[in-house]
Amino acid sequence: MAQDRPDERADADARSAADARAAADVRSAADSGTFGDLDLRPELLAALAALGYEEPTPIQREAIPAMLTGRDLLGQAATGTGKTAAFALPLLHRLASGSRGPAPTGLVLAPTRELTMQVSEAIHKYGRDLGARVLPVYGGQPIGRQLRELARGVDVVVATPGRALDHISRGTLVLTDVQTVVLDEADEMLDMGFAEDLEAILNALPAERQTVLFSATIPSHIDRMVRRHLRDPLRVRIERAAVPAGDAPRVRQSAYLVPRAHKPAALGRLLDVEAPTAAIVFCRTRGEVDQLTETLNGRGYRSEPLHGGMSQEQRDRVMQRLRAGSAELLVATDVAARGLDVDQLTHVFNYDVPSAPESYVHRIGRVGRAGREGVAITLAEPREQRMLQSIERLTGQKIAMEKLPSVADLQARRLDLTRAAVAEHLAGGDLDRFSGVLDQLLGDHDLREVALAALALAHQADGPTVDEQEIPEVAARPVREREPYAGSSSAARPSGSAPSGVRGPRPTTGRLAGRDMTRLFIGAGRQAGVRPQDLVGAIANESSLSGREIGAIEITERFSLVDVPSEAAEDVITALRGSVIKGRKATVRRER
Ligand code: AMP
Repeated sequence: MAQDRPDERADADARSAADARAAADVRSAADSGTFGDLDLRPELLAALAALGYEEPTPIQREAIPAMLTGRDLLGQAATGTGKTAAFALPLLHRLASGSRGPAPTGLVLAPTRELTMQVSEAIHKYGRDLGARVLPVYGGQPIGRQLRELARGVDVVVATPGRALDHISRGTLVLTDVQTVVLDEADEMLDMGFAEDLEAILNALPAERQTVLFSATIPSHIDRMVRRHLRDPLRVRIERAAVPAGDAPRVRQSAYLVPRAHKPAALGRLLDVEAPTAAIVFCRTRGEVDQLTETLNGRGYRSEPLHGGMSQEQRDRVMQRLRAGSAELLVATDVAARGLDVDQLTHVFNYDVPSAPESYVHRIGRVGRAGREGVAITLAEPREQRMLQSIERLTGQKIAMEKLPSVADLQARRLDLTRAAVAEHLAGGDLDRFSGVLDQLLGDHDLREVALAALALAHQADGPTVDEQEIPEVAARPVREREPYAGSSSAARPSGSAPSGVRGPRPTTGRLAGRDMTRLFIGAGRQAGVRPQDLVGAIANESSLSGREIGAIEITERFSLVDVPSEAAEDVITALRGSVIKGRKATVRRER
């Protein structure tokens, strides 16, 4: 944050490194505060709790109280910091509780259609219990629907500048009631040539209003705009001076650019290649923790969730299982993992880029203790690249951008693990009890054949089933590079939506460990409560396949896709057609 706390680290040097880190944990827990401290309406608090947000991010902590007083605000924060909720929650908090007029009281301007939709979805999500009426307005969408919705009455309009101006000049977007205007990603809007449109819109707004501007950078043209249109704004900057040398733990740090839809597969692949003794995977919300734990368990990893929604007793049990080695992965939120000290931890995975660079430092401080080497791996969506640079500036350490291992790399690594396991066994001795079996086999086969078969068995027995679909490569770009307007780039795409541009047509067949695979369609998905382990269980129970032979699994809201060896596809279809999945019969067929 912009405000440094110079006294905090004053006596840290005198303590041991471990003490210093423990103190940092306590400090951050004490600093953090909860959403409850922010005086937001109970409906909003309930929505945040339901979403599993455990605590405000730094930008939220600073911006929400200021915005609630009606003050203008200049926020320097990039995507991934939680800036959308930082302005959306105060906007929603200030909606009239009774009946509302047809004209909007909130206007959000954003550079791209994707961001418009994303912000609008977020406001809708947070404001559901308040009955907030939110409308995204962007070019490219037929104007008829927008006209109808605007005429019916809207509380918050989220618009691209060009289309907003179009509606203003038609008289269909009435600005007289606007109390708050938010310019989101202002630097992007100016770089995309919207300066004149923005001037025109700001001049058409009521003079008595709150103006809030968010921008990842504050170049001089933004500064001029701020001076013209904002009144005595509170300036909040989500970045602070570098961590003093020696404070940031020495850890091998790398990051991978992965489209959201491919994150589970990417994580699985990295877990296989890295083979951590024990690891912690950080997620942003409780919901994400629960979902990812299920996905990982479905894929054969022994993972346990840890979040603020669990009782102390449940958390203690999880920690015991991790320490005893019966769990290898901990999937956790920042709050739950604060102060955690587990010697066995070798790896930290950030399933998302953390919303504040300081959280990153706290997270990676879980490994690399007592002089041991630690590894920190971050999965970043292409649009989160800027956050990685803020982190590098804070820590003064480089995060290496790496390419995900390919399926071939993964297979090579698995073979290597098998070779190492067999070599270890040879060194361990005590193999005599198998000599009778070997002699019997040598009656019919030569030694090499027997050895190869034994290797194949050992290989099969080692490691969980993983997703072996190819994951599209996303090249790291210079961060200042511009996206085309109404862009087709993944950098501006809302999280959670399928990145159709990068992914390309999904093959309906593939190969798993050299076998031809066929993708099956199963007409039950997340809505029916289907989890990966249900599908693995149903297929393994009903057909001749073992869990290990099942390939990639993808579960969507309404259906699931599962890769099975082609030669067994017919057998699996017949078997599943006669069975029930999560208490109901589902359509099962080859994916067309
Ligand atoms: P943004 O920077 O607004 O694009 O937000 C980045 C991501 O963080 C979004 O997926 C939000 O849903 C999520 N998020 C925002 N605030 C919080 C919070 N306080 N706790 C957990 N996740 C959050």
